Amino acid sequence: RLRREEKAWKINNLAKDFFQSILLQHSEAAAAREYIHGRGINANIIKDFGLGYAPASWDTLMKFMQSKGIGVSDLLKVGLVVSGDRGVYDRFRSRLMFPIADARGRVVGFGGRVLGDGLPKYLNTAETDFFSKGKILYGLDRARQAIREMRYVVITEGYMDTIAAHQYGMANTVASLGTSLTKEHGRLLMNYTREVIIAYDADAAGVAAAVRGLDILQELGCRVRVLSLPEGKDPDEFLRARGLDQWKRQVENATPLVEFKIQRALAKYNNGPLARDAVLEEVLPALAAMPGELEKNEAIRLVAARLFTSYHVVAEQLQKFSNSNR
Ligand code: ATP
Ligand code: MN
Ligand code: MN
Ligand code: MN
Repeated sequence: RLRREEKAWKINNLAKDFFQSILLQHSEAAAAREYIHGRGINANIIKDFGLGYAPASWDTLMKFMQSKGIGVSDLLKVGLVVSGDRGVYDRFRSRLMFPIADARGRVVGFGGRVLGDGLPKYLNTAETDFFSKGKILYGLDRARQAIREMRYVVITEGYMDTIAAHQYGMANTVASLGTSLTKEHGRLLMNYTREVIIAYDADAAGVAAAVRGLDILQELGCRVRVLSLPEGKDPDEFLRARGLDQWKRQVENATPLVEFKIQRALAKYNNGPLARDAVLEEVLPALAAMPGELEKNEAIRLVAARLFTSYHVVAEQLQKFSNSNR
């Protein structure tokens, strides 16, 4: 098993270097270089994150690998080529390539972005037991030192968000690659910190994914806060438009999970007369999941204040909720 994984890491690493040499040198990658430049990505980031370009042809990578003695069956296993109607061919073509590494920097897969508006916007290595997005946080290998030093992590949705954050000096940033957060993600992070800031896109998909991930992290014992961007923006766009200082302010002002839930529930029920019970109902699971007694008490006080009721009332409801879920 380990030998097989080592072989896969080696092949992926070779592919990474190959895609990068094309991006940096090949005439066919001129449009890709232009695209990267247009998005503000600098040369250091290209090197640090191993960005590359997969050319348009159906077999450039396959031929290169064969010249290195790596055959089709191994390439099929790591998902760099696929088998279809026209035989076996390169999976990634005409795409900007983002190598995806595990926490120790071993390349386990790739994401590939079209240069324009084509679909799918991103194509990733297919899910296998070797490569699973639910177990990987993009950029963690480059972020883990900074996460330890800064004592918190920022989780974004996208490749571009994490790359922008690193370029602007927030190296404690990773991406969940559009999937909702899993227990495995949480456990991975808890090797480095329990302080988590969620910075997902300010669009319906981003908010929905954020909300799903929050409880999972909290139940594992993380302290979760949610960063809210202006409508429609993502961290990459925000950083490049407003700069690092304003981004840091967003991070500092991120909303604690319970407050975030209260706000969402209040908005949902239009602050109407029936809101109090409904809001309580939505917030109780988050309260119940809070690991620390001190924090929990503080949160109960907050909920009580926001609902214009007493600590006692909220604590009693929480007790009932906890008893009924035993
Ligand atoms: P860009 O700034 O280049 O548009 P983005 O990261 O902002 O990229 P989003 O559409 O916000 O792109 O998606 C967030 C993340 O979700 C992507 O970075 C990628 O990891 C993942 N993703 C998006 N679209 C797809 C897709 N079609 N297939 C698989 N993963 C995707
Ligand atoms: Mn989005
Ligand atoms: Mn974006
Ligand atoms: Mn985005």
